[in-house]
Amino acid sequence: MKSNQFDAIVVGSGISGGWAAKELCEKGLKTLVLERGRDVQHLKDYPTMTAAPWEMPHRNRIPLDDKLENPVVNRCYAYKEDTAHFFVKDSEHPYIQDKPFDWVRGYQVGGKSLIWARQTQRWSKYDFEGPDRDGFAVDWPIRYEDVAPWYSYVERFVGISGSYEGLDTLPDGEFLKAWEMNCVEKEIQKRIKASYNDRNVIIGRCAHLTEPKDVHLAQGRGQCMARNQCYRGCPFGGYFSSNSSTLPTAAKTGNLTVRPDSVVHSLIYDDQKGKVTGVRIVDRITKESSEYFADVIFLNASALNTNLILLNSISKRFPNGLGNDSGILGKYVAFHNYRGSINANYEGFMDEYYFGRRPTAVMMPNFRNVKKQEMDFLRGYMTFYTAGRAGFGHADVPFGQDFKEANSTPGPWSVYMMMQGETIPKESNHVTLSPDQKDEWGIPLLQISVAYDENDEKILTDFYEQGEEMLTKAGCINIRRGDSKQSPGLDIHEMGGVRMGRDPDTSLLNGFNQMHLAPNVFVTDGACMTSTGTQNPSITYMALTARAVDYAVKEMKKGNIS
Ligand SMILES: Cc1cc2nc3c(=O)[nH]c(=O)nc-3n(C[C@H](O)[C@H](O)[C@H](O)COP(=O)(O)OP(=O)(O)OC[C@H]3O[C@@H](n4cnc5c(N)ncnc54)[C@H](O)[C@@H]3O)c2cc1C
Repeated sequence: MKSNQFDAIVVGSGISGGWAAKELCEKGLKTLVLERGRDVQHLKDYPTMTAAPWEMPHRNRIPLDDKLENPVVNRCYAYKEDTAHFFVKDSEHPYIQDKPFDWVRGYQVGGKSLIWARQTQRWSKYDFEGPDRDGFAVDWPIRYEDVAPWYSYVERFVGISGSYEGLDTLPDGEFLKAWEMNCVEKEIQKRIKASYNDRNVIIGRCAHLTEPKDVHLAQGRGQCMARNQCYRGCPFGGYFSSNSSTLPTAAKTGNLTVRPDSVVHSLIYDDQKGKVTGVRIVDRITKESSEYFADVIFLNASALNTNLILLNSISKRFPNGLGNDSGILGKYVAFHNYRGSINANYEGFMDEYYFGRRPTAVMMPNFRNVKKQEMDFLRGYMTFYTAGRAGFGHADVPFGQDFKEANSTPGPWSVYMMMQGETIPKESNHVTLSPDQKDEWGIPLLQISVAYDENDEKILTDFYEQGEEMLTKAGCINIRRGDSKQSPGLDIHEMGGVRMGRDPDTSLLNGFNQMHLAPNVFVTDGACMTSTGTQNPSITYMALTARAVDYAVKEMKKGNIS
């Protein structure tokens, strides 16, 4: 038992778990990271990072048998031959869909930090106030001012590129040099700004090193080369991942132990001691069970897996899941609505081009219901757009001089716009454990019951109307609506189920992500989210994690957690 004793245990090594590990190790705690997937070492385990299409058996396409066997993951745009090894196959990790839900996962050291799209916007004060003001979910127990210093803290370390705009709806952070809009994007920005008082258009903020500082070089990372092959793992460490950044930093302290292939089954609640003492695991390969113990435990298995682990942590004291006296564990799950997109064309600028494969888009912070309820739906959406020239090879003549010339010049400009809609956490959107079906490690399958509602349809309609109007005013032509009709989940921003709040009857975590009823357990991944905002969520998970570790270690020193 002694060799299985640590100061802290972190479950999961993805974006939030990597941060928990770094912070705990740097504060001197002997920390065990339990990760269900295989080990992935930065650079060494990125087999395709420099591969050309012709070096891949299917030229970077997914073969038909894989598509048929794994329909869910195949719907993810980033799942290709060069990245498939970092995604979970549906056939290997089944779950139950009460309603269609695309659950996209990355089970390995680094989790989804290897395959995320790296867009990072802070929440604003309006997002934290939203549920209370508009009367949905429960009030966040924190406000923007509580998280702002922690946003700065993680941004400096991660390296976020962005422009300083002074917007209260999308606060500035600690930025590296911003990426640049191309000429058509700038033209659209100019015309939208001239047409509306309530709409801001800025270049996206993302976790890419445009100008690495000492803090990034010390991590062994270098400048982003704008190759747009990030999902393979970056040979330059140009984007942020646990593997390139937080985990190696944690390891340097000498306090880190990572145990890959460790499927966490549940937390151990000692009824006599009246507290959580550790974690039960099943070895992924040998299927042997073992137990690890620690004074404090951080759950960072990603939103829905953290729900699963807590629901499966049954004891005499907590027969319905750890900390679940209120019965709300697994409920109020929410996500982002990505269904709507708009395509258009732009005439002119035929003598202009752009350089590199910029890893971000143009962003328009939410302009609906921001400061007060104005629409016939709750909350709003962030809008993104990009403009680009159609690829070379657009000739519509079959041969000759014209064919050669058309194939050696880029085609006309097209514009793509998409929405990221906030969804409202509802009790009916929930996850539970299957009463009779288990996975090969003896853990009940997760049963997911999550769907859109009328509010989401109204937001979609508003996005189409406003998007079309804005693109028309911006001079676009041939404007076409698109509805992917994609299921919830494919946004890969699932959140909630273990939400933060002020009252143990209506929430599971307090304002420091600490379980109301199990004070040495902290949940700092997406499961903790009380509402979703319209921003990409991971930078908020990182900030909340660093903040929670700071609090936990101070509480341990005071003797309040042991
Ligand atoms: C294609 C794609 C694009 C995305 N784009 C963006 C974006 O632009 N911006 C943004 O903010 N977010 C984006 N995301 C979402 C982002 O990846 C997640 O929000 C983020 O990774 C969540 O961090 P996490 O630590 O909660 O989970 P993860 O990074 O998924 O890590 C969880 C880890 O826990 C492990 N684990 C799970 N269950 C267990 C268990 N029982 N025992 C032990 N270990 C376990 C997993 O194997 C995994 O390693 C994107 C995701 C994808 C796939």
